[in-house]
Amino acid sequence: MAQKRIYTFGAGKADGNKDMKELLGGKGAGLAEMSNIGIPVPPGFTITTEVCTEYYRSGKKLPKGLDAEIRAAIKKTEALTGKRFGDPSNPLLVSVRSGARVSMPGMMDTVLNLGLNDATAAGLAQRSGNPRFAWDSYRRFVAMFGDVVLGMKPERKEDRDPFEELLERKKHQRGVKYDSELPEAALRELVKEFKAETKKRTGKDFPDDVHEQLVAAVLAVFRSWENDRAIAYRKMYGYPSDWGTAVSVQSMVFGNMGDDSGTGVAFTRSPATGDDHFYGEFLVNAQGEDVVAGTRTPQKIAEMEAKWPEIAHQLEDVRRKLERHYKDMQDIEFTIEAGKLYVLQTRTAKRTGLAAVRIAVDMADEKLITKEQALARIDPEALNHLLRPIFDSDKKAAAVKAGKLLAKGLPAGPGAASGRLVFFAQDAEAWRARGETVILARHETSPEDIRGMAASEGFLTAFGGMTSHAALVARQMGKVAIVGCEALSFDYHARKMKVATEKGERTLSEGDWVSIDGSTGEVIEGKLETRPSEVVQVLVEKSRDPKDAPVYQEFAKIMGWADAARRLKVRANADQPDQATTAIAFGAQGIGLCRTEHMFFGEGKIGPMREMIVAETTEARRAALSKLLPLQREDFRGIFEAMGSRPVTIRTIDPPLHEFLPQDEKGVQALAAATGSSVEKIKKRIEELHESNPMLGHRGCRLGISYPEITEMQARAIFEAACDVAATGTKVEPEVMIPLVGSRKELDDQAAIVRRVADEVFAARKAKVRYLVGTMIEIPRGALTADEIAKTAEFFSFGTNDLTQTTFGLSRDDTGPVLAAYLEKDIWPVDPFVSIDRDGVGQLMKIAAKGGRSTKPDLKLGICGEHGGDPSSVEFCHQIGLDYVSCSPYRLPIARLAAAQAALKESGARAARGKANGKPARAMRNGRAVKAAAAAVGAAIATRAVARAGRKVAKAAAKAARRAR
Ligand code: PEP
Ligand code: MG
Repeated sequence: MAQKRIYTFGAGKADGNKDMKELLGGKGAGLAEMSNIGIPVPPGFTITTEVCTEYYRSGKKLPKGLDAEIRAAIKKTEALTGKRFGDPSNPLLVSVRSGARVSMPGMMDTVLNLGLNDATAAGLAQRSGNPRFAWDSYRRFVAMFGDVVLGMKPERKEDRDPFEELLERKKHQRGVKYDSELPEAALRELVKEFKAETKKRTGKDFPDDVHEQLVAAVLAVFRSWENDRAIAYRKMYGYPSDWGTAVSVQSMVFGNMGDDSGTGVAFTRSPATGDDHFYGEFLVNAQGEDVVAGTRTPQKIAEMEAKWPEIAHQLEDVRRKLERHYKDMQDIEFTIEAGKLYVLQTRTAKRTGLAAVRIAVDMADEKLITKEQALARIDPEALNHLLRPIFDSDKKAAAVKAGKLLAKGLPAGPGAASGRLVFFAQDAEAWRARGETVILARHETSPEDIRGMAASEGFLTAFGGMTSHAALVARQMGKVAIVGCEALSFDYHARKMKVATEKGERTLSEGDWVSIDGSTGEVIEGKLETRPSEVVQVLVEKSRDPKDAPVYQEFAKIMGWADAARRLKVRANADQPDQATTAIAFGAQGIGLCRTEHMFFGEGKIGPMREMIVAETTEARRAALSKLLPLQREDFRGIFEAMGSRPVTIRTIDPPLHEFLPQDEKGVQALAAATGSSVEKIKKRIEELHESNPMLGHRGCRLGISYPEITEMQARAIFEAACDVAATGTKVEPEVMIPLVGSRKELDDQAAIVRRVADEVFAARKAKVRYLVGTMIEIPRGALTADEIAKTAEFFSFGTNDLTQTTFGLSRDDTGPVLAAYLEKDIWPVDPFVSIDRDGVGQLMKIAAKGGRSTKPDLKLGICGEHGGDPSSVEFCHQIGLDYVSCSPYRLPIARLAAAQAALKESGARAARGKANGKPARAMRNGRAVKAAAAAVGAAIATRAVARAGRKVAKAAAKAARRAR
């Protein structure tokens, strides 16, 4: 453990710096760095995250010696500010803020204005010449301290905050609407009433001793690391519970000192679109909490120039300095106290996927960062934002014309979403759990709503600006959001939303459909169809000219850079020609898995397939298969034509046969008629095919071994189609893949059939096509005996869906209840069906890769399980030396970027090692840039891997359903 527990900052100096986020939290590291580079920061100190973990380790006790260290740090802050803590003649007040190593907006607690008691409040009133301000600060402090430190927060959604209630009552008594209209006398009364309420509820007097206040607040912030919201948030994003939070204690500056004071938040670029303009909001005569709470709609930063030109210029300087220094978009909090600007926080700003791509491309074009750094900046999952649907413009125009446009708010999270209205976060969760799509609509959202927000398609709020809670969370979660939609008002009891429209008031109820356009801010009544994104319009639909598609152009640039950086190839899982075409548009270099069984459900095929399955003799089976042969050949021809000279991996039949059989009486009768058999006989055959545990039963290569004529028919269809297409001048490359192989003899049996049929077809056609025969590695025995299997196999493709199922001994169709409990209890850090379990499944993959290549050094290795589109798994595949990953077409851009990041991380690590050994990293054009990018990728991948895992937990059920069959 590091010795130093408290790091001070202020007056152009600091003990810490920006690279110390793990120890000082993001906030503490940012404050230290800003001090170091001469940005005006109110002085203070940061207590490290290690102290927080020590606090928990020691059974939540004040760590020994900390009290004295806090006193010493306060002395330093006093010296830098010229004020004294607890001194009525010139009182120092401080804020006590949480700060984990990653930003967890609003999840933990903060206490402002600490250091006030009756004496210091009077002193503050006198020194500031503004008694109303002093008492306003005091009542805010008592309420915050009561909430955060003394545990007086409301516990249930129906409960109200006791201080809020007293405040409301006071406003009512005084006949005013806003807090700011309460006179000094009313604020003095409130302080008394707040303290009386505290005594009533806690049985103790409100503490007047300022040091006692400070220590209690520090411990309360430590405790807030374990509050429900923070725990839920950590789970959602997969952040480990042992990180702990740092605590920053900072001298207060006041934005509520009068009309030459104010407070605000700003982004150095647009967090929604990435546009290069200063983007922020401020409130005159207000404290920071007023901006974040979203209860007053703030002014735009562009309007500051007219009001406070000098401050506006200073802020612009801060913006440029921070961007040049951090080389990334920052999000800052600032306060103006009596005409003087202070910056209270800077951090790497959250942004939409759209903005992430634009900013990375722009900064690389501006030469602020390298292309490698640009690649490292983008969370691969964020590319989803660029592929997300938008409303069909004609349909939206028609809805607007029909008077369905209800209101307009601020476009805070781009994309289009339709859903049913719910007004409580808990309801959003419950509705989602029963399969509804919902839009969460509220006055404003707060950190308590986080789970419900995750369950919603989008959010709609009446209050707050682009930096309100709802807006921040939308950008982080990639949700559609409209905020500050002032036409809305809510009656939560009646579960109704009122909308003030030009034609009068409209009322919508819980469950009504609304559509929200997060790119324009429009709220539309009813359910609106969506249409593909710009990128999809250009690439897949080909309905838009790339020259008129700026978002597509940025996407294409990033993809180009990623392709230049990656080593791993990318292939797609596709079974139809149109899927193959889409895959090529998204960059597929081949097909990694064509599940032939999907083809059997196509037009005209299921009948002969069923006939084949119920056939009782080889002859009858062959007769049915001969009906299937031309149909299957057509399927393959379509795929080969679409893929051109790219390799196509075709897997022989895999699922248990009963999956193809009719489930209802009508189907049974039809099958009986088609086969000339009786209904009873068909039923008996269906019964015979029943298996207790089909996923571990008669499937995969076991079917081909029992019924070689099936493999034979499929091989014939593949090679005849390949010859047909090759005859047109295309260099086809079929790779025939045998599933569920656990021993070499199984593969020998099936490979012999495939090769024999290939020879027969080539002889008959007087043609030859280059082909490979390989296997899936998807059961542990296959992985463990891979060296043997490779004597026959010409390639391996890891079927990590089955490999995960069989390694864990957990049915992939029944993960639901297990998953929920295991993730809740941290038994699994992530869903292993989403992200490769490196310690178990990953070990088997390593064994298989090593074993296979010990037999055949150039054995081609790939992956075609769902994990092939998961960035953390892609990184792992890169690390263990696979040649390609294969995933669904729409995840290809993600896989391309993740593959590039994995390559950059590796070359960065190599550069670092070379340097450590005193050797220059020869292979690298720009070793330092690559290393820096790699460090960023490393950090990003580590946090993203867990973050994604959180998101994926929510998607796990849906994924299971989307599974191949
Ligand atoms: C796998 O098991 O990972 C795989 C790709 O095959 P399927 O999902 O079809 O069983
Ligand atoms: Mg499988």
